[in-house]
Amino acid sequence: MRSPKTALSAALGLGLAAAFAAAAPVSATSPAAHPASHHSTPASIAAYTGSAAEKADTKAFFQAVMKSAQAKLKANPHLKSVTVTYDASAAPTFANEISQSASIWNSAVQNVKLQSGSGGDFQYKEGNDPRGSYASTDGHGKGFVFIDYSQAQQYNRTRIVAHETGHVLGLPDHYEGPCSELMSGGGPGPSCQNTQPDANERAQVDQLWANGLAGIRFGG
Ligand SMILES: [Zn+2]
Repeated sequence: MRSPKTALSAALGLGLAAAFAAAAPVSATSPAAHPASHHSTPASIAAYTGSAAEKADTKAFFQAVMKSAQAKLKANPHLKSVTVTYDASAAPTFANEISQSASIWNSAVQNVKLQSGSGGDFQYKEGNDPRGSYASTDGHGKGFVFIDYSQAQQYNRTRIVAHETGHVLGLPDHYEGPCSELMSGGGPGPSCQNTQPDANERAQVDQLWANGLAGIRFGG
């Protein structure tokens, strides 16, 4: 991957720059407290436990999902919320957790809704990866969430899926945060069982997607 600065510049090239700046400022804080082994890949990655570089790349993933959702809004400008569809067929082991995660987020936020559907805006996959679980793009503007088997044995499975889905909705990692946050991911350790976003995380998501809607309305 390129430097965090490059990823940020790419993000700022979009009309969503104001939304990012307002709701999810990129902090210049220290690297994650629990760095994982870092492999360079062609895709943008935001992991359950990861590095500061991965943290900055979260925006590239959100762009891919937002772009797909915005196309639907353009075709249907009177919608009050954006529906983001997901395809869970490639992660059958985690079907229950994926469904729970969608319910959790749909109860927590107003401006964007998750719905299962084939050929979704993004995809869940499962398997073994030394990087653990992560959200990524395939390099062609399509996002996916990867759930790692061994990480799922160590950490709360629903929390992993809800955390990665938080990236889909635009939230960056915040590993230094408490267990009461979803985006602290693996930071608080394997004993953390919280599967719900906190009030700040909910507000951030609603703000990001409200700005996405405004961008469409005003020709952004
Ligand atoms: Zn993450």
